This record gives sequence, C-alpha cells and structure tokens, in this order.
Amino acid sequence: MDDQLYDRVALIGLGLIASSMFWAIKRAGVADEVVGYARSQETRDTAREIGLCDEVCDTLAEAVEGADLVVLCVPVGAMGAVAEEIAPHLDPGATVTDVGSVKKAVIEAVGPHIPDGVHFVPAHPLAGTEQSGPRSGFAELFDNRWTLLVPAEGSDSVAVERLRNFWEALGAHVEEMDADHHDLVLAVTSHTPHLIAYTMVGVADDLRRVTDSEVIKYSAAGFRDFTRIAASDPTMWRDVFLTNKDATLEILGRFTEELFALQRAIRKGDGDHLHAYFTRTRAIRRGIIEAGQDTDAPNFGRTPKPKG
Ligand code: NAP
Repeated sequence: MDDQLYDRVALIGLGLIASSMFWAIKRAGVADEVVGYARSQETRDTAREIGLCDEVCDTLAEAVEGADLVVLCVPVGAMGAVAEEIAPHLDPGATVTDVGSVKKAVIEAVGPHIPDGVHFVPAHPLAGTEQSGPRSGFAELFDNRWTLLVPAEGSDSVAVERLRNFWEALGAHVEEMDADHHDLVLAVTSHTPHLIAYTMVGVADDLRRVTDSEVIKYSAAGFRDFTRIAASDPTMWRDVFLTNKDATLEILGRFTEELFALQRAIRKGDGDHLHAYFTRTRAIRRGIIEAGQDTDAPNFGRTPKPKG
C-alpha cells in the first residue's frame, strides 16, 4: 500500500474519536492493520458487531504489542493509568500519542510512563460532536478541522513528521503548539463555552415560572443550540474542567467581568454599548465562516422540518 504510514495502529478506548479515526484511517489507507481495545465487554462486543477495527483485543497488552502507533482515546483523567499499564508492552521505536482535550495534564500524567526508545507525541484533534460511544464515529469528522500536535522540545522529528502526515491523511490541517498555549486557546474556544452552555441549560431547567414544556417547545429561539453542547459526555467534560483548571478559571473571570458590563449597560439603557459589543461579536462569526470552519447558511444550514 503506497500511502501506508504505520503497520499496526492500536486505538485505546473505542468512543467517538477512536471510531472516527478508524473509519478515517480505512478511508485513507494509511495503516496496514488497526486494532482496538475498550475496557468494557459491552463496547468490545459492539465494536466487533459493527466491524470497528480489524481486530478487537480483550487486553491492553495484546492491543499495543507490535503496534508502531498507539493512540490513547480515553477521557483525560484516565490517560495516566492506561499509560502505566501499557508501558511494559510497548515496542521500541513505537510512537504513543493521545487525543485528549487538555494537554499539560495529559503530558504530566502520561510522560513519566513512556519507556526510553518510545516516542511520545501528544495531539488534539479539534473536532467532535455531542455524541459518544463506538457507534458515533464517522470518517469525515476530521475533514478540514485542525489537529494540534504538542511535542516536547527535542522530540524525534521523524516521529512528529510521521504523525503530522497521518493526521493530514485523515483530513485534518495540522499545527504545532506548546501545551500551556494549547490549554489557554482551548479554554477560550471550547472549554468555557461548554461551561456556559451547561449553565444556561441548568438555569432554564431551574426556572419554574417557565414550564418544562415551554422550554422544549420554544427552544428554537436560541436555547436549542446551547442544549446540543450541554448534551456532551459528562465524564469527558468533568475531566476537562478538573485538568484545565487554571486556564478555564482565567477565562471565566474575564467572562464574568464582561457579563457584568453588559448587565450594567442593560440596566442603564446604554444601547450604544450593547450595539458596539454585538457588532464586534458578529465580525468574529464572519471570520469563522471565512476561515471555512462553519457554513454561512442561515441557522447552520438546518433545513426546516416538512409540515404534517
Ligand atoms: P467517548 O465516546 O465517551 O469514549 C471514551 C472511551 O474511553 C470509551 O471506549 C470508554 O470505554 C473509555 N473509557 C472511559 N473511561 C475510562 C477509564 N476510566 N479507563 C479506561 N477507559 C475508559 O469519548 P470521546 O468523545 O471519544 O473522547 C475520547 C478522548 O478524546 C477524550 O480524552 C476527549 O477529551 C478527547 N476529545 C473529545 C472530543 C469530543 O468532542 N468528544 C473532541 C476532541 C478530543 P467503555 O466504552 O468501555 O466505557
């Protein structure tokens, strides 16, 4: 196979990201064999049933033995324990990478377990949906999205380059970043917005003057878009906030200040402030569309449901 970059890829954890990687690897033909492991029998059975992975292994050791690329696709808080367990079974010269949404904490948890002669190249694909589990993946998830590589200084440049080529073959654009900067950027673009969505949905749920049926019935007015984000996996997001604490608290502090300023403008009837603020935010949306990271179709391109 001409495009092959790895002989044997081991996907550890078989949820949304791993299953999407499997289908994208097959589409690109960049690995000879892809094996997978998940801790629960239920997930392993589902994977076998839907043909997710060329082979589903019953132990971590079996999965990583002979692999030249091992991808940790478990929640951020579980990465360290998994790394410790696989360490004695890793082949010399193999690359270990991960897809965790937080980088500094993963590097601190995984790094110490990586044996000499094995390369560790942390990574984060900036692509996802609110779905989880082995059935939720699809080959196009990473198309035209960014994957950030976070190699330590002095990492093996051949191993880093090979992983870059791998992610590009899966459809992604690739850039390198250091861990602290990654965690701050993601606190702004992903982590804090998720927390705000969780809060907004929680607040609506608490508002007893508006009935539950009204919240659901009239959700298309804006609330619905928050509910999609707030339906994301609770374990994954608990771990994100526990491990990206400093950057998230920093951005939340700024958010609270801006919210107070807007609250004050509303109380004082300061329309100029509100108008200027909303004009600035509208320009950010235009920038995202121009960068090809979303559609400019009204309402995210959703088609109205046919009546009747
Ligand atoms: P997911 O669909 O919920 O799948 C998680 C997988 O990890 C499952 O196979 C699960 O095994 C396994 N797992 C859960 N807890 C574990 C533990 N304590 N020890 C060992 N294995 C465990 O999750 P995902 O969305 O693919 O996320 C995986 C990683 O990708 C996370 O680190 C997340 O931060 C990152 N990520 C997610 C997104 C996103 O939008 N979802 C985007 C980019 C990066 P069982 O099925 O057997 O329980």
